[in-house]
Order: sequence, then C-alpha cells, then structure tokens
Amino acid sequence: MPEPLRIAVASGKGGTGKTTLSSALALVAAGRYATRLLDCDVEAPNAALALRPSLSEQRAVSIPVPRVDEARCTHCGRCAEVCRFNALAVTPRQVLVFDELCHGCGSCVWICPEQAMSESEARIGMLDAGTTETGIDFAQGSLDVGQSSGVPILRALKRWTPAAWRVSPRIEIRDAPPGASCAVVETLRDVDAALLVTEPTPFGLHDLKQVVAICRELGLPTAVAINRDGIGDAAVEDYCAEQALPILLRIPLERHLAESLAQGNSLIEAAPEYREPLARLLQGLIELAEAPR
Ligand code: SF4
Ligand code: SF4
Repeated sequence: MPEPLRIAVASGKGGTGKTTLSSALALVAAGRYATRLLDCDVEAPNAALALRPSLSEQRAVSIPVPRVDEARCTHCGRCAEVCRFNALAVTPRQVLVFDELCHGCGSCVWICPEQAMSESEARIGMLDAGTTETGIDFAQGSLDVGQSSGVPILRALKRWTPAAWRVSPRIEIRDAPPGASCAVVETLRDVDAALLVTEPTPFGLHDLKQVVAICRELGLPTAVAINRDGIGDAAVEDYCAEQALPILLRIPLERHLAESLAQGNSLIEAAPEYREPLARLLQGLIELAEAPR
C-alpha cells in the first residue's frame, strides 16, 4: 500500500495562524486528492473548529507506569536516579511514583536490582477520528489535564487507522504543536516536508529559528509562510533568503479576515480569494517534498 505524502505545518510559537493554514491546506488538497489531517497539537487541538468533522471513533491512550512491591524494595534509590523525568522519589520508607510525570520509558523497572517493580497501564489521553463533509479523513489527539508528555499520544495517533477512513490517502497534513518541544520533533520526525508559519516580528524570527533548527537536524525540506505580512520589519525575509528557505505564501493583516477566522470559519470561507494561492502553496510543498535530495 503506498504511503501518503506527509506535510507538517509548524510554528515556533502559538498564535501565528498554523492551524488556520493546515486546515486550509487540507481543504484545498481534498479537492484534488484523498486527504487526511492529523491534529497533533495534543495540548490544544482545534483544527476541528474549522474543518467540522463528524467524530465517530474514539480510543484511550495509556502508558505503562511503575508500581512498587514494598515487600521486595530495599529503598536503594537506583530507580529514582535513572528517571530523567523526576517521576520517582525514594524515601527510607517508601517509593513515591508521580504518574503524571512518568513517560512510560520502563528504565526504572529494568534497573531495579530486586525486581520490586512491575508496570500498570495508566491513561494519559484520547484519540478521536472521523470524516468531514468535504471528504477529509480527520483525527486528533488530546492530552488529559495534568499529564506532561504528548509524545506517546502522537505515536498512537500516527499509527492509528480508524475504520471510517479510506485505506490509502495521497496527502497527509499534520498540524504540529507550537514551539520546539519533543512533541514537535515527534510530529516532524517522519514527514516529507515542513511548512513553517511565522510573522515578520523579532519574536516571530526568534521562534522561527528554533523550529528551522529542528527541521535541519531532521533533514527536512522546509518552506515558510508569513502571516500578518507587513506588520513588522524585513528581518524574517532576510533570514529566509540567507537560509535558502522559500517563502511560499504571504497573508497580510486584514481586519475582516481576522474577525471571520475568530468566528470559526476556515481561511477559504473567510477569504475565497486565497483558494488559488493555497493551491499554489500545496503544489510548492509537494514539489519540495518530491525533489531529489
Ligand atoms: S530500584 Fe527497586 S529496590 Fe531500589 S528503590 Fe527502586 S524499587 Fe526499591
Ligand atoms: S517508567 Fe521511566 S519515566 Fe516512568 S518513572 Fe520509570 S524511569 Fe521514570
């Protein structure tokens, strides 16, 4: 079965219009290809607001967290030493496990010299899936309140094939989490190209550089879209020229557009004149992804 061409839409910080663009790209792609959108922003998934999928399938995501047999434990402390996430505290009388900090890596269980640890499944979030009226296969992950790592949810989201979906989409769009965290790396890890959404301000440039560094490390073909074009200075453009990052779309700041998007409309509903520029953006990303490296 052929793999889809995977495009991630990311940004160094929230509020740049990343989800607006990923959902608009999915809508344009769906007019030409079998398309899937994964909302990977597990702390605040909101691509469903613009795409309005009918969600028909759901499953919980859990990770293995350690449980301690105090009768065997000698309180040696080795499990707490090996935990990189401070999810264990060993006192002379007991071992405390903070489930919400645990990443389920299993290191503590492996290192315990007394075999005093076992594992128990603990829920950390949910996956939801369905389809949209425009024919997009849609899924989102969401992290439970208080949980610290979205990475296991992203891994489950990427592996999941809900029954309602078509078998082999041509295009998969991923709406990445904002920032430059482990969850962003997990989202970008196996895509064919990345679109980075930024704004032409010093903050925008600072955050863009962080996510460009991740893309470079992963060897990803990368392009840029500038939102609120015209509000700041030319530093983002200069940086893109210096780094050979093509700027494939510019969206000027327009009040009517911002108001329509805030009401939950997609970019195409808010401004149908963007359909053609978005189609060119999609084509540019496909060409970038398929170019020999
Ligand atoms: S490594 Fe094992 S024996 Fe040592 S404190 Fe942890 S659970 Fe107890
Ligand atoms: S499974 Fe990993 S993250 Fe969880 S408590 Fe053990 S060492 Fe820490």
